[in-house]
Amino acid sequence: MYQPQVGDSLDVLDTPAMIVDLALMEGNIASLMKRFRARNVQVRPHLKTVKSPDLALRLLAAGAIGGCVAKVSEAEVMVEGGIEDLLITTEIVGKPKLARLVDLLQAHPLIKVVVDSVVGARELNAAVGAAGLEANVLLDLNVGQNRCGATPGAEALDLARQIGDMEHLQLIGVQGYEGHLQHIHDQQERQQRCQQAMRALTETAEHLRTAGFPIQIVTTGGTGTAEFCADFDGITEVQPGSFVFMDTDYRNALGPVYSNALTILSTVISRPSPDCVIIDAGLKSLSTDSGMAEPKGLAQIAYQPKGDEHGALSWRNENAVGELPLQIGDRVELIPSHIDTTINLHDTYYAYRDGRIEAIWPVAARGKVQ
Ligand code: PLP
Ligand code: MN
Repeated sequence: MYQPQVGDSLDVLDTPAMIVDLALMEGNIASLMKRFRARNVQVRPHLKTVKSPDLALRLLAAGAIGGCVAKVSEAEVMVEGGIEDLLITTEIVGKPKLARLVDLLQAHPLIKVVVDSVVGARELNAAVGAAGLEANVLLDLNVGQNRCGATPGAEALDLARQIGDMEHLQLIGVQGYEGHLQHIHDQQERQQRCQQAMRALTETAEHLRTAGFPIQIVTTGGTGTAEFCADFDGITEVQPGSFVFMDTDYRNALGPVYSNALTILSTVISRPSPDCVIIDAGLKSLSTDSGMAEPKGLAQIAYQPKGDEHGALSWRNENAVGELPLQIGDRVELIPSHIDTTINLHDTYYAYRDGRIEAIWPVAARGKVQ
């Protein structure tokens, strides 16, 4: 039976396979943690990127205070793996989700949730109250992404007051994620717009404190902005996720702050012409929502999916002529364009050092979108 083992050479891996350069990944984590240790702001990495308790535990060992998850089903996987201090960063609405949350809260009281509406808060209050529980909630604020979140200022204060009247909810913080700013290439513009968003977030936190709410957590930030957030007075923690592995989209925006530590290993399976080869990695192996993956170490060669299971490699410059330096059977690594949506396509991480597999981690929260 096919069963790659720790200690095996990468050559034993069938393809497509998701592989992690451990030295680069460890470098990314250490580098991020060092930046925030110096700034006295906590790190609560967003685990929707790694989707693995094994990796979450590594992040905790490196200094993270806990984790963010996007969904209740991700939280279920993380608590199973021993991660207790979780913030679910997406509003939890509907009876089935609330029932799952209540089940989780019974045994894992450190889980925190966000609310952005009276309707949502009321239903949450009723669900946890019926189970004899309390929930710690953060008020989710719209700081410019125009996704979820109450409007900072009067609307937020009004919502907080209504939450304050709900017997089973404890308002302990605010979240304001500026997702629309993460990939702005111009660093100065990214920083300035981030500061505007942080002003709205921290001013609202102050208003809530003045109104008597014990706001302990002010949480925000992704890989593209977390340092700017941390430099803003009043931010208590940041939630970056993609920095662990990076992708080409973030590398293009940020430059070489972190390294591309994860690739999809593929095999050349056909050579229809000297200037084009076909690999075994298509839409089911590499996401394309943020553009095309890039062949690693082959700057002149471009990748294009050719359906669910196939991809084509050809000269990046359309006018280039001549044979590609790739033969049937060759292996090619591709750097994902968007790390989160690519990891969610794979079952297993194969982490290596010096060409040997050092760790094998299941993507335990793969497909956990509920
Ligand atoms: N926080 C929230 C609420 C998010 O939705 C995301 C990602 O979309 C992040 C943090 C982490 O961002 P990134 O993976 O870009 O570092
Ligand atoms: Mn993402």
